[in-house]
Amino acid sequence: MNKISDKNIFKPSWGYDKAPESTDHIQIKDQYELFINGDFVKPENQSYFKSTNPADGQVISRVAEASSADVDKAVEAARKAFKKWSALSGKERGKYIFRIARLIQERAREFAVIESLDGGKPIRESRDIDIPLAANHFFYYAGWADKLAYAFPNRKVLPVGVAGQIIPWNFPLLMAAWKLAPALATGNTVVLKPAETTPLTALKLAEVIKESGLPNGVVNIITGAGDTGAAIVEHPDIDKIAFTGSTTVGKYIQKALAGTDKKLTLELGGKGANIIFEDAAIDQSVEGIVNAIFFNQGHVCCAGSRLFVQESVADLVIDKLKQRMNSLMVGDPLDKNTDIGAINSAKQLKTINEYIKIGLQEGGEIYQPKCTLPKKGNWCAPTLFLNVSQSHRIVQEEIFGPVLAIQTFRTIDEVIEKANNTPFGLSAGVWTEKGSKIFYLTQKLNAGVVWANTYNKFDATSPFGGYKESGFGREGGLHGLKAYVKFD
Ligand code: NAP
Ligand code: MG
Repeated sequence: MNKISDKNIFKPSWGYDKAPESTDHIQIKDQYELFINGDFVKPENQSYFKSTNPADGQVISRVAEASSADVDKAVEAARKAFKKWSALSGKERGKYIFRIARLIQERAREFAVIESLDGGKPIRESRDIDIPLAANHFFYYAGWADKLAYAFPNRKVLPVGVAGQIIPWNFPLLMAAWKLAPALATGNTVVLKPAETTPLTALKLAEVIKESGLPNGVVNIITGAGDTGAAIVEHPDIDKIAFTGSTTVGKYIQKALAGTDKKLTLELGGKGANIIFEDAAIDQSVEGIVNAIFFNQGHVCCAGSRLFVQESVADLVIDKLKQRMNSLMVGDPLDKNTDIGAINSAKQLKTINEYIKIGLQEGGEIYQPKCTLPKKGNWCAPTLFLNVSQSHRIVQEEIFGPVLAIQTFRTIDEVIEKANNTPFGLSAGVWTEKGSKIFYLTQKLNAGVVWANTYNKFDATSPFGGYKESGFGREGGLHGLKAYVKFD
């Protein structure tokens, strides 16, 4: 195989003109309250926290911090609303959910800009992925609302009751949609808590929900930090907890609910293996590697953060990958040219930098393209590590940032063993032109989703979830309904 010489590595002598998305049409309030029982209400203890823009550190808005007294109020509203909402026909419930989906579409640009401002992800991603997929989830589950008898033939389906839903900061609106849409379609009522660093699109969604005319109390959105989440988890009148977040908090929740009859689904961390065979289309694979690890700054539970390349093509793939990394644009999330935006928080940046340090201390060989990072805000250049092995911490632990650990392999059995040698089991990617190899690997890889010749593709109709320390339960597709129903 030809090795690409370093001289050929693409170093653009010209740049792109800036193409910033306009923020003129965006309405963000100076202060947001809690959305309880169809109204925006002040928190009992008058406490607020700030949501900032990770790209420049500026405060965007003040947001109410819910105490356990506010959680009580939200659960009470959801319990009261449950009686009527669960008795409504599926067809009627579906109408409200369709309306929410359409309103998200109508306000898509506003949602996209706020998502990028509050969380740091490139506008290209929030505009083309997060927001359309969020609307898609509401459309999809609206369609199921009056067809539950077909989803579960010969069973009498009942809603579970009041669901407490806690979501992370990496896909704020999309995670809210994943949680709310199936719960509503099956007749449950909800108390949802977005993450502390990215509450704004969930609060915008509360406005959309109010506008949709959804009966009061069916959806309650309360903001706050970990303590607010814990108060939801521990509330005695909640019937089901749906949590997406870190494995550490997931374990705490599992312990807290042990011995209760509350239902639980956990969508936790991951350390996805992305496997490139020598017969793969190399250029497409390189794009796939970039998409797998640098999409959303690597803040992706199913990121392909462990790359396995077959030895015979390793030099070529790594050279091409370095070349491609040199053309990635890191910077202003609102610029439509940007490939990699801001790291979500100073805390997350510290974690990522610590892992980069650990990688170096453990003998890894680092590569980062030369790029000028903005002075203000939280930034990390796309990073890869060579010369690492299975026992390295950057290979074993979830970094949740744009850091890729690369290993090589010779045989199919070797790569299966290496790929499965992780406490996680969420995702994997396989790149080969041979269909039989793909089918063999999908059986052998211990991962909830295995992508073939692509990576990080999501669809409302398709179930998503993990094994082992990546959690249990599925979201999306028909499987996603199951978490929100019980049978008579
Ligand atoms: P996190 O710290 O576990 O937080 C997730 C949510 O739980 C946030 O709303 C957080 O509130 C809240 N929380 C924190 N402590 C809590 C407690 N003691 N009780 C109840 N709730 C509590 O995770 P994160 O750092 O936001 O998100 C990153 C993690 O999520 C990664 O590990 C990633 O892999 C995982 N993730 C998994 C999936 C999946 O589908 N499997 C999808 C996306 C992300 P605060 O924000 O206020 O701390
Ligand atoms: Mg923020």
